[in-house]
Amino acid sequence: MPKVPGISKPAKASSRPVAMKPLHLPESVKPTEKSKLRIRWTYSLSILGVHALALLAISPWFFSWAGVVACVLGVYVFGTLGINVCFHRLLTHRSFACSTAMERGLALIGVCSLQEGPGRWVAIHRQHHQHSDERPDPHSPLVAFFWGHIGWLLVTNDQTDTMQLYHRYAQDLMKQRFYMNLERRLNWLWVYIAHAVLFALVALLVGYGVWRDWSGAAQFAASVVVWGVLLRTVLVWHITWSVNSLSHLFGYQSHDTGENSRNNWLVALISNGEGWHNNHHADPRCAAHGHKWYELDVSYISIVVMEKLGLAKRVMRPGRR
Ligand SMILES: [Zn+2]
Ligand SMILES: [Zn+2]
Repeated sequence: MPKVPGISKPAKASSRPVAMKPLHLPESVKPTEKSKLRIRWTYSLSILGVHALALLAISPWFFSWAGVVACVLGVYVFGTLGINVCFHRLLTHRSFACSTAMERGLALIGVCSLQEGPGRWVAIHRQHHQHSDERPDPHSPLVAFFWGHIGWLLVTNDQTDTMQLYHRYAQDLMKQRFYMNLERRLNWLWVYIAHAVLFALVALLVGYGVWRDWSGAAQFAASVVVWGVLLRTVLVWHITWSVNSLSHLFGYQSHDTGENSRNNWLVALISNGEGWHNNHHADPRCAAHGHKWYELDVSYISIVVMEKLGLAKRVMRPGRR
């Protein structure tokens, strides 16, 4: 078994843009035989349910400016810091180092994005890097856009639904009791539920403190949960999923990485830097995904700020030896 953690495979970097390859649906990328695909009903209905509840945001009864602020800030805190900086660049690729307390605090923030536990997230992403756009890739959009975006989450997959996945790709995390416990008995889900309840309670108390009226406070708390938890969760889901789907279909290639990863400015903009995905595949351990001056990478800027504050060290930079 080749060395996996960090996925530091050498990349053929090129300063010249690589010509766009025509899209195709090679037999080799199909995830598994059709007869083995079964819908994960509980999981699928849960994703659908959270989307349906997030739609409550269009009702004026659930609107508050505090909810909007909680949503916008939440996309940065839980999506950018929790998923991009922690789950992706820290835990999966070890693009920088920090204290154990900081790492675990960020990991818990990432869990509040409802993308399962860090162990499974890291294992699936490392598998994606090792087999990008080939049959073992869990979510190549070369199968179909819908498959790469969300479809792969809705069905069973013999290659990702086993303990073998953790064994192969996330042993470094699984040997730590903290990460093992998060994977066990859906504990990651309980953390998510606990943070949603905390949002509701704090908003309820703040609302009562301001208006001295429990029904008004309850409406305020409902708006904060709908906007600041449910809608934010759905937005961060689609941002993360867009990196898997859009950034393997549309955009430019600066590096010949041998698969279909792309630098996609739209995904980079909404994901705070994760859309510079071809750069990332070329140098997976690099903390910076934007390699050119115009490739804005807010997640990397956040890591540099953490470094300046003494919270991050050994930041992997482009062009390092
Ligand atoms: Zn990729
Ligand atoms: Zn990656």
